Amino acid sequence: MTTTIIGFPRIGENRELKFNTEKYWRNEISETELLDFAKDLRLKHWQLIKQAGIDEIPSNDFSFFDTTLDTAYLFNIIPDAAQKLDLSKLDRYFALARGYQGEKGDLKALPMKKWYNTNYHYLVPQFTKTTDIKLNDDKIFNEYQEAKNAGIQTRPVIVGPFTLLSLSEFHDVTTNDFVDKLVKVYQEVFEKLSDQGASWIQLDEPELVKDVTGDKKSLFENIYQRLLQNKSNLKVLVQTYFGDVRDVYQDLINLNIEGIGLDFHEGRKTTQLVQSGFPDDKILFAGVVNGKNIWRNHYQKTIDLINSLPVKNLVISTSCSLLHVPFTIENETFTPEIKQHFAFAKEKLSELSDLQAILDGKTDLIAKNQQLFDQQRVQPNESVRKRVASLTADSFIRHPSLKERATIQKQEFQLPLLPTTTIGSFPQTKAVKKIRAQFRHQEISQNEYDEFIANHIKEWLDWQEKIGIDVLVHGEFERNDMVEYFGQNLDGYLFSKNGWVQSYGTRGVKPPIIWGDVARNKPITVKWSKFAQSQTDKIVKGMLTGPVTILNWSFPREDISIKDSTIQIALAIQDEVLDLEKNGIKIIQIDEAALREKLPLRKTDWYSEYLDWAIPAFRLVHSKVQPTTQIHTHMCYSEFTDIIPAIQNMDADVISFEASRSNLEILDALQKENFQLQVGPGVYDIHSPRIPSVEEIKTTIHKILQKVPQEKVWINPDCGLKTRGIKEAKASVENLTTAAKEVREELLIHDRN
Ligand code: GLN
Ligand code: ZN
Repeated sequence: MTTTIIGFPRIGENRELKFNTEKYWRNEISETELLDFAKDLRLKHWQLIKQAGIDEIPSNDFSFFDTTLDTAYLFNIIPDAAQKLDLSKLDRYFALARGYQGEKGDLKALPMKKWYNTNYHYLVPQFTKTTDIKLNDDKIFNEYQEAKNAGIQTRPVIVGPFTLLSLSEFHDVTTNDFVDKLVKVYQEVFEKLSDQGASWIQLDEPELVKDVTGDKKSLFENIYQRLLQNKSNLKVLVQTYFGDVRDVYQDLINLNIEGIGLDFHEGRKTTQLVQSGFPDDKILFAGVVNGKNIWRNHYQKTIDLINSLPVKNLVISTSCSLLHVPFTIENETFTPEIKQHFAFAKEKLSELSDLQAILDGKTDLIAKNQQLFDQQRVQPNESVRKRVASLTADSFIRHPSLKERATIQKQEFQLPLLPTTTIGSFPQTKAVKKIRAQFRHQEISQNEYDEFIANHIKEWLDWQEKIGIDVLVHGEFERNDMVEYFGQNLDGYLFSKNGWVQSYGTRGVKPPIIWGDVARNKPITVKWSKFAQSQTDKIVKGMLTGPVTILNWSFPREDISIKDSTIQIALAIQDEVLDLEKNGIKIIQIDEAALREKLPLRKTDWYSEYLDWAIPAFRLVHSKVQPTTQIHTHMCYSEFTDIIPAIQNMDADVISFEASRSNLEILDALQKENFQLQVGPGVYDIHSPRIPSVEEIKTTIHKILQKVPQEKVWINPDCGLKTRGIKEAKASVENLTTAAKEVREELLIHDRN
């Protein structure tokens, strides 16, 4: 029995990759210094994995930004505008990821989307008439060679052709136009690697766990049939994760490949599929250690599972790349009683080794592990359980109807046409972060901290008033993160010190851990919202994170269902909404940035397994507010076009969402579905430091007005501004307000005529 993993967190134990990359972006270190650093980091990780006893080690799972972008780059799937920029290879790569604005020209970043049902984001490759597929990069070969030189034989990883094509966007061309060329260039990679001495390649094909039927299935068959013709000596592992491959299992086991990787955690049917038969001439890479959650593996259950599989050649692996969990639990300060329940990436390597040892006869490892599951880990909170039990159907419905509320609120607020607002946060500068850290470490008093935050809020309120934004925000300076901040103020949560997980590029999140029943024991946001509102006559939006997002961006419990945890969180946030209302906050935004994150990858499961409880959980939060209280929500970085009825069903009054990076295609869908909520489709991309011009924003607003009735349109950026610098944030929002005012004038003149 051998062990392997699908991929390892590339950011480093202390996010070294982030810090060095950002230094490079700020011109503080040279390109060579960054490349050398990355090389050392990769070597360190390979050695660590090897020392933990893992037999087969992946390479090229490292990335400076994103592996889908790496794969597109490798194959020269690069828009013309980027090709033309006179930049180094590395800088062109970063320009694609982040946009570029400088002396060499102007380039928008590639669109960014959520990586399946995770909080990782990939860049969307763009195919056009001029896309010229060929080998363009050496990364995969260099990294293989690097490991080899260090005496470590690795299995290079690359996004598979079916997934790559499925995730890409096509402009005036179709997927089929590129199948032949793409297959050829994958084959070239196979040959080159084989010549270098590699024996395996791993093709990541998570797309296979979705609904793969009809044309999609033909595409898959077509690609793989061609790809495996005249196959080189290189053995091929088709690696899937995030679900089961029920639509293509038979095809996969009949392919001319050597390895198939399947997910036994999220793949509800995986066991059943494998039990229906698995060929003796292939190797099953069984994803039995959960790559997405941080609880210890239950060894006995895993061993029983493995023993139930009629498989001759088995490699034990993780259910997905370890990229989705933090690096190590080692340096965390939890008590040993708590710590023993967790396994982060490094600890999961040991779990794989333990499982291997158990299978080899060291069964004494089972008993100690079993103790973790025998005792009751945490006491239930009886009052929360009672409250959940007493909910009725009406607890989830807001009265009166959306339409009636719209009339009442119009009267109440008297906002102009195309009201402007922002999504909540303003730049989290070094100074802001430093003050929070000093307060956390008790280096400054509560008073000093409060004074700093109050001054910051005042400054930014003044600026918002000055530039004439209609609905203000306080700026979220007191918050580190939109989920952690709430978790810290709720019972039932635990926090790691260094449990970072990559979200996109150098950005990470530190998901809190739901340890027990969740309850709110005191108001969380009331103090600063109330303060901000007291400073101005304009309306300041209250700002909360919704229950589905809090759940989705936490590491959930495995001893109760995520639905039950979400309802508990919803009740806690409901208390907060009502407290804000009581304290004079008239507009309350409840962010559901991650609503889509746990949407099942198969459409057939969307409602029954998720939306049927996730949407009501959101409604529970605001069902008790007055008709005059306006509820906003915000969603970002994902496809919405296909869940519009569900979004409508959230029954908020206004929704803002990320749209600029995805070219506003959502507008068509809103129009088609006769969307009733007021909407603020983001008019520019905040994920890039580029400043949009007034003209650019006006063009976007006009596009919006073609599809959405003007009385329903709000004007806002596509997300919070916390990751931006002050200068660019201010300049962009000033341009936004100018653009909105100018278009508003045009509309009014038009109306008068
Ligand atoms: N209100 C949050 C902010 O502005 C929303 C963040 C998000 O959608 N990711 O930061
Ligand atoms: Zn957002």
